[in-house]
Amino acid sequence: MKTHITCLYIKYFTWYFNENRGVISAMITGKEYIERIDQLKSEVWEAGKKVDEPLSKHPAFKGAIKSQSELYDLQNQPELRSIMVHEDKETSLEIGTSYMVPRTKGDLEKRRKMVQVWARHSAGLMGRSPDYMNTVLASFVSSVSLLDHQPNCFPDHLLKFYKYAVENDLSFTHTFISPQNNRSSLACLDEDITNARVVKRLEEGIVIKGAKLLATQGGMTDEIIVFSAPGIQDSSHAFAVSIPSNSPGVKFICRKSFAGSEVPFDSPLSSKFEEMDSMVIFDNVLVPWERVFFYDNIKAAHDFYLKGNFVPLTLHQIVSRQVIKTEFILGIAQMIVDTINISEYQHVQSKVAEIIKGLEASKALLLASEHQAAINKDGVMLPDRIPLYIAVNLFQETYPRFTEIVQLLGASGMVLVPEQSQFHSAIGDQLDHYLQGYEVKGAERVQLFSLASDLCMSAFGTRQTLYERFFFGDPIRLSQHIYSSYSKEGPVSFSKEFLSEKS
Ligand SMILES: Cc1cc2nc3c(=O)[nH]c(=O)nc-3n(C[C@H](O)[C@H](O)[C@H](O)COP(=O)(O)OP(=O)(O)OC[C@H]3O[C@@H](n4cnc5c(N)ncnc54)[C@H](O)[C@@H]3O)c2cc1C
Repeated sequence: MKTHITCLYIKYFTWYFNENRGVISAMITGKEYIERIDQLKSEVWEAGKKVDEPLSKHPAFKGAIKSQSELYDLQNQPELRSIMVHEDKETSLEIGTSYMVPRTKGDLEKRRKMVQVWARHSAGLMGRSPDYMNTVLASFVSSVSLLDHQPNCFPDHLLKFYKYAVENDLSFTHTFISPQNNRSSLACLDEDITNARVVKRLEEGIVIKGAKLLATQGGMTDEIIVFSAPGIQDSSHAFAVSIPSNSPGVKFICRKSFAGSEVPFDSPLSSKFEEMDSMVIFDNVLVPWERVFFYDNIKAAHDFYLKGNFVPLTLHQIVSRQVIKTEFILGIAQMIVDTINISEYQHVQSKVAEIIKGLEASKALLLASEHQAAINKDGVMLPDRIPLYIAVNLFQETYPRFTEIVQLLGASGMVLVPEQSQFHSAIGDQLDHYLQGYEVKGAERVQLFSLASDLCMSAFGTRQTLYERFFFGDPIRLSQHIYSSYSKEGPVSFSKEFLSEKS
C-alpha cells in the first residue's frame, strides 16, 4: 500500500512538472519497470526449472528487481531533476541522463553525478544498474559513423533503435564474450562449437545459433544487446543486435543464486543487490533486420569496440560507480576500527590508509579524465580514456585487497554473526552483553559485522570481488593494452637526453 502511494506521489510530481513545462517525460517509474519485466515472461532457467512465476516474485530475483525499481523512482524525484533528467532538444522529450550523449564538459559532470546518485542507492554494488547499459547504448549511437558505407552495416537501424530505447526507457542486459571452452592461442583455428554465430541470412532477418556469456541481470531487463568482442576470426561471429529478452529461442541459464536471507540484518546486501548472472543460449533466434546493427563484418566489431566511444564513455560510468563503492568500504573499515577500538595500532591505520589512497586515486583519475576531455569529430565530448583505463585496471587489484583488509581488521567478528532472531530470543540480553563492542551493544556490533561479512565473505560478496576483477575484461590483457597503447616516446627521449647530457 505504502509503495503504491509512493508511486502515485512520484507520478503526480512528474505529471505536474511536465504539464507546467510543456515537456513529455520518457522516463518510467519503478512500478512500470516491474510490470514490464513480469509481462515479458522471458525464458529463464534457475535451479533446474523454467521460472514460470512473475520474476519479481521469484526468490532469486525479487531483491534486485525491487532495488532496480527504486532506481527508476529516483529518476523521477523532483529534487534530483537537474542531475537525473536531460531535455533532448531534438525530440523535446525529457530522457534519463544515462542515455545522454555528452557534448560538453558540463554534460560529463552531469553524467558523473547521475551515476553516483544511482550508485549511492546500492553502495555501488549493482554493477548493472540501468545507467551502465544506457551508457553503452549512448556510446554505440555516438559512434554510428563507423558503420557508414561499410558492408553489412546498418547505421540507420542503430539510430532508430536508440530513439525507440530512449523513448521507452528500456532496460538492457548484454553478452559480449564466447563460452570458455578453449582459450589457447590456437583455439581460433578450430571450428568454434559453442560461440553464437549467424547461421542463416533470410529475407526477414538473420538467425543466430549458439551461446554467449555472461549476461548479468539476464531475464531482468526488457532487451538483450548481443555484441561480438574484438579478436574474432570467423565473420559469422561478428555481429551486433538488440532483441527483446522474450524473443523466441532465447534462454537465460542462471548460475546458483546468491540471494541471502530476506531479513536485512542477516543479509543486508545479498537480500537486495544480487543481480544474477546467466549464460544465454540462442536456439535459432530470428533477429529482424531493423534490429541488426551489423553482421558478417569483423572490422566493424573491432572498430566499434576499440575505435568508437564505448571505452571512454563506459569507463567513465564504471569509475564513477567504483568511487562510491570505495567510499562505502572505507566507511565499513573505519566503523570496524571504532567498534572494536583498534585505531591506536599503526598497521591498522596503514590498512585503512590503503583504502583512502585507493579512493582518492580513483577520484583524481576520474576528474583528470573529465579535465582532459576533448570533442571528437562527431561533436561528442569524450573523457580521456587513459586515466580511466588506469583507474579500472587499478581497481581490479585494489578491490580484492580492500575486502582482504576488512577481513584482517574484523578477524573473528567476521564469522561471529548470529542472526537477528537470536537477539530477539530468550538469550538476546546475554548476546547483547557478551557480543558488545566498544561503547555499543551486541546487536549493534553484530549488525555492522553482518554487513561486512556479506560484503567480503558471503557468496554474494565473493562474486562482487570476481565482478570487479573481470567484468570489464581480463586484468592481464587490460594492462597489456595500457602498455601497448600508452605513448612512451616523450619519457624515453627525456631519459635519453638526460643520459647524453650526463655522460
Ligand atoms: C561476475 C561477472 C559478471 C560479468 N558480467 C558480464 C556481462 O554482463 N556481460 C558480458 O558480456 N560479460 C560479462 N562478464 C564477462 C567478462 O567480460 C569476462 O569475464 C572477461 O572478459 C574475461 O573473460 P573470461 O571470463 O572468458 O576469462 P578468460 O578469457 O577465459 O581467462 C581465463 C584465464 O586465462 C587467461 N587468459 C586467457 N586468454 C589469455 C590470453 N590471450 N592472454 C593471456 N592470458 C589469457 C586469463 O588471464 C585468465 O587468467 C562478467 C564476468 C564476471 C566474472
